[in-house]
Amino acid sequence: MLYLHHAAIVTPSQRIDDGAVLIGDARIVAVGDAACPPGAQVIDASGLFLAPGFVDLQLNGAFGLDFTAAPETIWDVAARLPQYGVTAFLPTIVTSPPEISEAAQAALLKGAPSGVVGATPLGLHVEGPFLNPAKRGAHNPNYLRLPDVKAVEDWWPDRGVRLVTLAPELPGALEMIRCLAERGVIVSAAHSMATAEEAQAGFEAGLRYGTHLFNTMPALDPRAPGLAGALLADGRVSVGLIADGIHLHPAVVALTWQAKGPHRLNLVTDAMAALGMPSGHYQLGDFEVTVDASSARLADGRLAGSILSLDQAVRNLIAFTGCSISDALSTVTTTPARMLGLSHGRGQIAPGFIADLVLLTRDLRVAAAMVSGRIVFNREDAKNAKS
Ligand code: ZN
Repeated sequence: MLYLHHAAIVTPSQRIDDGAVLIGDARIVAVGDAACPPGAQVIDASGLFLAPGFVDLQLNGAFGLDFTAAPETIWDVAARLPQYGVTAFLPTIVTSPPEISEAAQAALLKGAPSGVVGATPLGLHVEGPFLNPAKRGAHNPNYLRLPDVKAVEDWWPDRGVRLVTLAPELPGALEMIRCLAERGVIVSAAHSMATAEEAQAGFEAGLRYGTHLFNTMPALDPRAPGLAGALLADGRVSVGLIADGIHLHPAVVALTWQAKGPHRLNLVTDAMAALGMPSGHYQLGDFEVTVDASSARLADGRLAGSILSLDQAVRNLIAFTGCSISDALSTVTTTPARMLGLSHGRGQIAPGFIADLVLLTRDLRVAAAMVSGRIVFNREDAKNAKS
């Protein structure tokens, strides 16, 4: 048993200023004024916030490793993600030959190599290859193709595919949306030239998410709102935002916040191999990407993923919108967990939930992170190890 007390517990359903959490068998047993059972390991969290572990629905790689170039590196990255508060994530595979997503599925289904503990990969986010070439961003045009349900026969949640980003206006896309949505795969739109009407047809077919809203889709025009306008306006649809201050102007983040709120907006990083690394040259799929202190770009200047960490994204959201800490934390915890249908397993601090937890300082920096009741990151230990 693990007993954590004197924390300011922040979870959307409650805020407890000086609370305790009792953890046993990888799950939360009691919350609030739980008593400490004899023999339990005690953690004093005075001065810290306790939040559910963060969930990132779009991560291409980190620490010099790129999932599309080397799918087996998912576990290496998973082990180091808790330093950003991330306890679960969707490794993202960008447009590539089918063997790559197959290899990534195989790597996930095989499970963690022995001794590896870290964030839990909950399934892949497959971004492409069914994208519009006119909005391909940093996707290799040689591998883009039209939707064909035969190509996704093996894409099921229990086969390691959780989320698929496609362009809903392409011929065959609606059939693919229906087919994937029926299986419980979340279907999302981006890298698209869809009109608002084409986007709406996608929603009717079961599309429920917008990947990196506003990026890789036509700008919102008041007479032709397009995919971005349709995603903003439809209450059934959630959106992912890259709140690094570069992909979107802070005012656009604030506008989206007003339209969608904490239950329909989740922050993603869309981070690539350079996250956690110095500036330099890195890979994203087949492309070389130049990374400086704030952005990752192709040779022609187009953005190619981000170097944003999810904890920084939370701090940015508060700075850009003035929202509360608990609302900001919802966008990386309860909201993405609910989207994935994990509401009874992750994303909340309540009895029965998996003990994926993050301790944060008052300025929302990650002090420690726990996956399934086990401490996998501790800032003090990390500091001592370096010195
Ligand atoms: Zn993208």
